[in-house]
Amino acid sequence: MSTIGEVSKTKRLIELENQHGAHNYHPLPVVLHRGEGVYLWDVDGKKYYDFLSAYSAVNQGHCHPKITKALVHQAEQLALTSRAFYNSALGEYEHYITSYFGYDKVLPMNTGAEAVETAIKLCRKWAYEVKGIAENQAKIIVCEGNFHGRTTTIVSFSSDEGSAKNFGPHTPGFISIPYNNLDALRNALNQPDVAGFLVEPIQGEAGVLTPEEDYIRKAHALCLSKGVLFIVDEIQTGIARTGSLLAVCGNCTCENKCERQVSYIKPDILILGKALSGGIYPVSAVLADNEVMMVIKPGQHGSTYGGNPIAAKVATTALEVVYEEKLIQNARKLGEMFREELNRIISQSDLLTLVRGKGLLNAVVVNDSPESSTAWDICLALKNNGLLAKPTHGNIIRFAPPLIITTEQLAECIAIIKKTIIEFKK
Ligand SMILES: *Cc1c(COP(=O)(O)O)cnc(C)c1O
Repeated sequence: MSTIGEVSKTKRLIELENQHGAHNYHPLPVVLHRGEGVYLWDVDGKKYYDFLSAYSAVNQGHCHPKITKALVHQAEQLALTSRAFYNSALGEYEHYITSYFGYDKVLPMNTGAEAVETAIKLCRKWAYEVKGIAENQAKIIVCEGNFHGRTTTIVSFSSDEGSAKNFGPHTPGFISIPYNNLDALRNALNQPDVAGFLVEPIQGEAGVLTPEEDYIRKAHALCLSKGVLFIVDEIQTGIARTGSLLAVCGNCTCENKCERQVSYIKPDILILGKALSGGIYPVSAVLADNEVMMVIKPGQHGSTYGGNPIAAKVATTALEVVYEEKLIQNARKLGEMFREELNRIISQSDLLTLVRGKGLLNAVVVNDSPESSTAWDICLALKNNGLLAKPTHGNIIRFAPPLIITTEQLAECIAIIKKTIIEFKK
């Protein structure tokens, strides 16, 4: 329980943000002050389980000691040079990440949206210079319900009204088709001048929409047969989140070797962000083989901060932690436990209709209209009981804890969710 003084501190800090910050987010009313592992503490010292993990950026847990140390150490030595010069951290990082994921080359950027922009630019340039599409004619197929970021071009092909409306004129050159629909993809691939297909293996922001088991594999085969680049956005699903290194690895059961395995479906362009940063410092990356990556020549694309020494060290360490702490195996095992236990809760309550997801990227669907505030109200009740989660798209709640969570901690979280659901009154 908060005292009156503590409540006013939370209130004061929320009011400061309200008054001086743009209103482009609608946060849950909790002011966080400290994080460690799977836990967060607010300004009153109240402790929470984090079940958002900064939209899966914090897979390795908050303030991971090894990643934090890498950041601090590099920050004290050399932070930023720009790419006008070589730096002593970048080459080793590029070698490490390309071997890790099995690609010839990496193009380092900072945020997810920048990496998606990079992939779009790569695809277009490849279309004109390798595939031979007439200038300015290249089309990229995208999926309805997608989330790829917030730039002017990316929101041009968003089907979410709030993301796209009144941000026009929109960038042309995109064909939007329904997700998880191979016939629609087949038809779109028959249109002239198609250069690429940009897809999420699971649509995270759309509410953890998991396509049919072989959708990605078949979509990849269709693209291959048409000479169209298969571009996969694994910014949210990648790096162990769904119980494999990449979601396109599918249900591989290679246990210990999994970390270094090249995905059995190899995207022509792989986009990573979020957990590549270890939740500490913005790092994103675009991976491709030479045929695609080498179309970009000096001066044709770049970023002042992309590939800076801190980013290089942080990302290398963030990937090492995934391997050392067996986050893939943990996400797979605890994900199964989570869905099993949630199904048990759902069978005892009519407040939730289903749980879906893969690994530790899951969501529950609330039994109410998308316009209702029920999902939000459940998240407020969860917060009061010590667990932080956020609704996506109205009546869906995403549950995505850091992947370092233990069986005992997850059992405690499931008990919190159960208590909250059973006691909840609309
Ligand atoms: C978060 C996200 C992005 C955008 O990343 P930012 O770092 O916020 O720009 C792009 N694609 C997917 C699938 C994401 O989840």
